[in-house]
Amino acid sequence: MAVKRRDLIRGGASVAAGLAAGGLPSGPSSAQAPQPPIRWDGEADVVVIGSGASGLSAAIVAREAGSTVIVVEAEKDIGGHAICSGGNVPLGGGTSVQKKYGIADSPDLLFRDLTDWSVVEPNGFADYRYNDREIIRAFADNSAACFEWLLAHGVIFVDKAPDARGGNSVGNSVPREMHAAVMRWPMVQTGQPADPSIQAVLSSGNGLMRPLEAAARKAGVEILLEHRMTAIHRQAPHSGPALGIAVSNDGATRNIRARKAVIIATGGSSGNVNFRRMIDPRLGEEYCGLAGMPWSNQDASGELAAMAIGASLWGLANQAAEFGYSVTKAGYIGCQYGYRNLQWMPGSTVFARARASGLRVADWQNVILVNMLGQRFYDETAEQFTANDYNSIDPYVQGSWRNVKSVTYDPHNFLNAALAGIGDGRNGGGPIWAIFDADAAARAKWDPRPPHVDIDGGFFFSAPTLAELAGKIVMKYQRVPMPPANLEATVARYNSFVESGVDEDFAKPKPLYKIAKPPFYAGWATPVPHDTRAGLRINGKCQVFDMNGEVIPSLYCGGESAGGFSLHGLARAACQGFIAGTNANAEKRRA
Ligand SMILES: Cc1cc2nc3c(=O)[nH]c(=O)nc-3n(C[C@H](O)[C@H](O)[C@H](O)COP(=O)(O)OP(=O)(O)OC[C@H]3O[C@@H](n4cnc5c(N)ncnc54)[C@H](O)[C@@H]3O)c2cc1C
Repeated sequence: MAVKRRDLIRGGASVAAGLAAGGLPSGPSSAQAPQPPIRWDGEADVVVIGSGASGLSAAIVAREAGSTVIVVEAEKDIGGHAICSGGNVPLGGGTSVQKKYGIADSPDLLFRDLTDWSVVEPNGFADYRYNDREIIRAFADNSAACFEWLLAHGVIFVDKAPDARGGNSVGNSVPREMHAAVMRWPMVQTGQPADPSIQAVLSSGNGLMRPLEAAARKAGVEILLEHRMTAIHRQAPHSGPALGIAVSNDGATRNIRARKAVIIATGGSSGNVNFRRMIDPRLGEEYCGLAGMPWSNQDASGELAAMAIGASLWGLANQAAEFGYSVTKAGYIGCQYGYRNLQWMPGSTVFARARASGLRVADWQNVILVNMLGQRFYDETAEQFTANDYNSIDPYVQGSWRNVKSVTYDPHNFLNAALAGIGDGRNGGGPIWAIFDADAAARAKWDPRPPHVDIDGGFFFSAPTLAELAGKIVMKYQRVPMPPANLEATVARYNSFVESGVDEDFAKPKPLYKIAKPPFYAGWATPVPHDTRAGLRINGKCQVFDMNGEVIPSLYCGGESAGGFSLHGLARAACQGFIAGTNANAEKRRA
């Protein structure tokens, strides 16, 4: 381990709840127990947990401002979800590129956009209504500065005007979306650089995070890979400043002291089944294909460690709201990790964990989607939740009741039917299977064999008859057998709809293809959790609050682990890292 063992024992300092090796704090009762003094194994002024968009930004800012910085990262490589991402970065408020293209934006305009109560989705959900005003003000005021800072730290954006491509609740007044160019960086998805002809125009999180990693290392940030934070130390279980963290590395637990502050940048909670079900009970363990996994998880470890020392959550309404990417329709079938904007290829360093690339569904006419019982439940071509961005509402008048006249109510959406369940009294919809035949595979140009599909993991099955196919679907999350007669009847009825041209059950627009030619296939197509839009309570400085509404001294949080701000991704994370790093650096150094 890079951290040197030091026998620095602080008399009187106590350890926050549950410092058992490798585990998270076990709760308030253990927090009351007398705690031994902390034995510090290493130290820095600022200790950052997580090396994603928020963590690396915070680390560089703090280091360049004069603090020594250690970043601990649970995984084998840096980057988190940010490096797997599409690299679409909606920073605005008057950036140099907005000015270059004559787009009039300002912090005030951005603030009003992201707190606009009047903007709603066609299904009635409001994108911005539940955002915390102080947190949005801080983002609006720092957004343009953060963008210029990224440019100054080696991030190259595609040379074009900001647009709304890849946006997700980034404000309706003006285009803000910029795109980090992948350039020559090898991509985590493939292990290879992109084709030279598209390197300067392909938007990718690799083009954001590798330059930030280089900048962090150049500045002297110490990055400890495979160091998983397991607890945050506080002076007393529920009072005093955060003093440092415990990390697990190679089977051992070490304690790292933070002389100024600890920054939580752990990327959210959507991958923690029990945590996410506090907000949406439907999201059981069958939703096992979290976007961004298996590169990194969103296991709520930052939230749980902070809650163990008294921290509060914030803005939980945003997580259950039906807009954006909190849960998405699968885009690749036949594999566990089927998020529509991420495909793992055999050259990736995590391919052994991903196990299959999946079959990309470009046309949902090629499959039917059935539940555990082999029954269809909705129009397969229906889409997932939408989000409001520039031009989504036309005409748009900021903050005006008139916007309601520009939105036509339309709750048509695939996801809620998929998550509804099979009527067995259990929460969650269970596995969703894409059923198709040999003709569909030929039409879609799918090769239904490994490494494209995950047969060994139980995410893909094939058989010469539909009845045999149903009988073969046995895997961890298929909690009831699929009755063969059900699947046969479902396909026979669907084929009759193809003949008549009318889907009498779910109004799929003109069903086109019969499922008739063996072999028959069943590929995993279960919805995918993605964004965390709720997390720890912070203020505009990114300081974490406790349950009494008081700041926990020396503890900061940014990105998806922070609550109060419903914005998909990178801009929020990078900007809050920028803010947290600045404020953590400004803290007084403890002797
Ligand atoms: C496929 C995909 C595409 C996306 N595309 C876009 C896009 O185009 N535009 C956009 O704005 N957003 C996009 N996003 C979302 C965006 O990537 C995230 O919102 C953003 O990365 C969040 O930043 P973060 O710093 O909070 O978390 P992350 O970037 O996920 O970083 C968190 C880091 O913390 C580490 N960590 C977690 N727990 C611990 C622990 N206990 N100890 C040590 N380390 C820990 C993780 O391993 C990870 O490296 C995308 C996400 C995915 C998965």
